[in-house]
Amino acid sequence: MPICPFFNNCKWIEKYSSTNGARINLYIKNYCKGDSLRRCVRKKVSEKLGGREFIPDNMQPDGKPVKGTNDSEWSEEVKEIIRSIREIQHMKN
Ligand code: SF4
Repeated sequence: MPICPFFNNCKWIEKYSSTNGARINLYIKNYCKGDSLRRCVRKKVSEKLGGREFIPDNMQPDGKPVKGTNDSEWSEEVKEIIRSIREIQHMKN
């Protein structure tokens, strides 16, 4: 199974793994080291905006804010990418 090339310096993991260990480990299993790797919204934001500096630290790989945080500081570009990903997913379902 492939591992995300950003795994060793993903800000979301660095910042939240000590306080949200079990939850983060589940995401890591499914996204960073699992079948959903290509669906990681963090990676998609980086690819679309041209760098990982544009990814909000508190964004999970599913595009939602970490529990107990919110998206109030996320840029409109990031929110638009998430909206378009959700629209595509909605059309597929
Ligand atoms: S959260 Fe996304 S960007 Fe970060 S290591 Fe996992 S798959 Fe890669």
